[in-house]
Amino acid sequence: MGCLAVDKRLADFEDICREKGLKITHQRLEIYRELLSATDHPSVEAVFQRVRQRIPTISIDTVYRTLAMLEQSGMIHRIQTMEGLARYESECGLHHHLICNKCHEVVDFTWELFDSLEPPPAVKSWGVSQGKNIVITGVCQQCLEREQK
Ligand SMILES: [Zn+2]
Ligand SMILES: [Zn+2]
Repeated sequence: MGCLAVDKRLADFEDICREKGLKITHQRLEIYRELLSATDHPSVEAVFQRVRQRIPTISIDTVYRTLAMLEQSGMIHRIQTMEGLARYESECGLHHHLICNKCHEVVDFTWELFDSLEPPPAVKSWGVSQGKNIVITGVCQQCLEREQK
């Protein structure tokens, strides 16, 4: 979905760290790299578990702070789920999310018709919209099949 190459994104990340006066550490780079390759919208905990395989000394606090910094810089995107548990993905083009209420899997989908719709007047009188994302919750096919057994 219009994703930039990983190398290019890692170079952008280094630029942003420099701008913000943050040290470019191996840990920060590995956290971002993990998110760039993830397709399952991992939670902080999940990112931590994965990066820890390669960097056993990493702390969950570092993962929290790095993800928060990346989100503020607009390099990653946070998806608010029903359980209030934040899930993250690298910013990768306009898309929406399907969230299963049973297994909590987050899946991407695109909806061009929705993207092209003008927001209703209430939105214009409210202010300036900077993004519109749809989250559809329900029960995924796998969970439905599991229930039938
Ligand atoms: Zn499910
Ligand atoms: Zn997504």
